[in-house]
Order: sequence, then C-alpha cells, then structure tokens
Amino acid sequence: MVTYVFEGGMKRVLVVGAGLQGLARAVHKHLAKNQVVILEKRERIGGRGTSQEVHGFQLEHGPHLLLKGGPLHKMVKKVSKVKPSLWPIRPQKIMIAGHGLLYPMNSPKELLSLKMGQDPIRDDALRLISGWGQDIPERRKALLKGKLCVVGEGWSGLVGRLASSLEEVGVPIQPSCEVTEVREDGVTLANGVRIPADEVIMATGKPKGKPVKVSTLDIVLDNKPLDGLHGIIKGEVAIIDLAAIHPLKSQGNSHLSCISLEGGIDAIEALLDERVSGWRSHILVKRANKSITLTDSEGGLADARM
Ligand SMILES: Cc1cc2nc3c(=O)[nH]c(=O)nc-3n(C[C@H](O)[C@H](O)[C@H](O)COP(=O)(O)OP(=O)(O)OC[C@H]3O[C@@H](n4cnc5c(N)ncnc54)[C@H](O)[C@@H]3O)c2cc1C
Repeated sequence: MVTYVFEGGMKRVLVVGAGLQGLARAVHKHLAKNQVVILEKRERIGGRGTSQEVHGFQLEHGPHLLLKGGPLHKMVKKVSKVKPSLWPIRPQKIMIAGHGLLYPMNSPKELLSLKMGQDPIRDDALRLISGWGQDIPERRKALLKGKLCVVGEGWSGLVGRLASSLEEVGVPIQPSCEVTEVREDGVTLANGVRIPADEVIMATGKPKGKPVKVSTLDIVLDNKPLDGLHGIIKGEVAIIDLAAIHPLKSQGNSHLSCISLEGGIDAIEALLDERVSGWRSHILVKRANKSITLTDSEGGLADARM
C-alpha cells in the first residue's frame, strides 16, 4: 500500500505520470521548494520516451529530434553533470523523392524559390521533418539552423537523467499506481487508496483535442544503403538514418527510424522497397508501432514546453 507522510510547512504536490512531462514538471516543483511525489500506473517510467534494447541496439518509437536550447534540453543540462551528446540533422542531406534535396544548397534558383515560399513540396517536407507534420515555426527554423538534433543516448536517456536527478534529491517515483480520481484534496488510486495533496499535476500524456496518430518502424541494417544521406522523404513518409547523423548510433550499420503520418507501416515499407533496395535481407533488428500518439497533453511536441 502507498502512504506518504508529507513534512509540515511545504506544499504537497502529486504528479500523475512519469513520462518526460511528469518528470520535468516534478523537477520544477521540487526546485520551487515543494514536496513532490510522482505516481505512475505502469511498472516502468518514461511513457513514450522509452527504448527497447534488442541485441544491443536501442530501438525507439520512431525518430525523435531534440530542439537544442529548448526547454527540455535546458532542463536536462541543468540536472546533468555531463552534457547529452547531440548531432544535428542536416536539411541539405535529406532527399525528397523525385524533387531533389530538402535544402538545395547547390541550386540557387531552387533555394530562392524555397525561401520565397514558392515550393510547396519542400515546404511540406520541412514541416514533416521539423514537427512530424505539425506546423511548429520554431522547430522549422531550428532545422535550417542545425539545431534539431539526434540525441546519442536516445529519448530514454533523457528520461533516465531526469529520473536519477529526482532520485538524488529524494523525490519518490511510485510505479504501479494508477490514479482513477482527482479530488480537490488529492487523488484516489485504482486500489481505492486516497493520497492527500495541495496540488495535483496531470502529466498522463492525454492529448489535447483529437490525438494525432502516426506509425513508426525502426530497423538496424548491416549495410549503409543511404550513402551518407540523413534521410529520404516521400509525401507523408520519412526515413531518417540515425547512424548517419550521430556517431554513437549503431556504428558501422544504418539505423533507419521511419515515420508515416498516413498509410501506416505499409507506406513506410513501400518507400523502403522503392529507395532502399534489398533492405529486407539486411535487417539486424526491427521494431514496428502501427499506431502511436504523436502529440502530448498540450497538443504539440514535448521539447518546447516544460
Ligand atoms: C513518432 C514520434 C516522434 C516524436 N518526436 C518528437 C520530437 O522529435 N520532439 C519532441 O519533443 N517530441 C516528440 N514526440 C512526442 C514525445 O515523444 C511525447 O510528446 C512525449 O514523450 C510525451 O511525454 P508525456 O510525459 O507528456 O506523455 P507520456 O510519455 O505518454 O507519459 C505519460 C505517462 O503517464 C502515465 N499515466 C497515464 N495515465 C495514468 C494514470 N491514470 N495514473 C498514473 N499514471 C498514468 C503513463 O503510463 C505514462 O508513463 C514524438 C512522438 C512520437 C510518437
């Protein structure tokens, strides 16, 4: 049974959910001199910021790019002794199938038309890579300035950094605690236990409005078929080679992290068949997710708000 004795004089804050948002909000609340407890319904923490280790390779749920200098990056740097290792994805190394490079540096005419907003195919492609289809001007600018980055340790590494800093300062993270009711004076758990609180922060990952669902496929191949490119785009499908971007990812191989806004896994596999010939016979490990919610409780991506 869960029971917490809060010290007198401090505000009692319960954070519901131990995903990136919950952990980051808990750090904030702790720094503001509150007494904080995190309740998580699953046995493991991290929510969608998880990875699965298969034969020594870290496979996540599709590609994640961290906004360098954004609130999540700042928070992780604040709680860490060693900075996370970030390498930027380069728009001049992303190929739009049938249209040329996303940022055509060697073609002044195409570059001018992109800059003047007269190239709808490149505009859509920029939106796809910068916000996975969401229109987020800050991330779009960051992509062009080399500030959207692959994180060497992955999204789960960021989760681990936040969780261990909370552990160091004594903020408990209680797994297997599903909150079923939020009351004025606290919460009730699925097993009926009531926990009192002065403030309850919901960080359960429930999207605002209609959830944006995407499909993802992550594969490590024992060859390098993209020949140094960082990615390939066609319509609403993107294939990103994390190993071409970050030297710590799957050295000597390619680590294709793919996302499809529409068309599911079939659309991803169709683009792989078209552009990455023979990929099926080079697979070392594979992780597919037919439907995963992209947006968070604010209706956007995670790293611009904390
Ligand atoms: C393919 C893909 C690519 C993405 N790319 C990016 C990117 O490039 N940049 C970016 O910033 N974001 C990206 N995101 C979004 C980012 O992954 C999510 O916004 C972020 O992980 C959500 O964190 P969260 O803590 O809000 O929710 P979650 O990770 O969903 O965590 C919520 C937690 O709450 C727990 N919970 C739920 N209900 C209860 C309850 N009743 N009681 C107790 N616990 C509960 C859950 O078990 C879970 O652990 C991407 C997402 C996807 C799917």
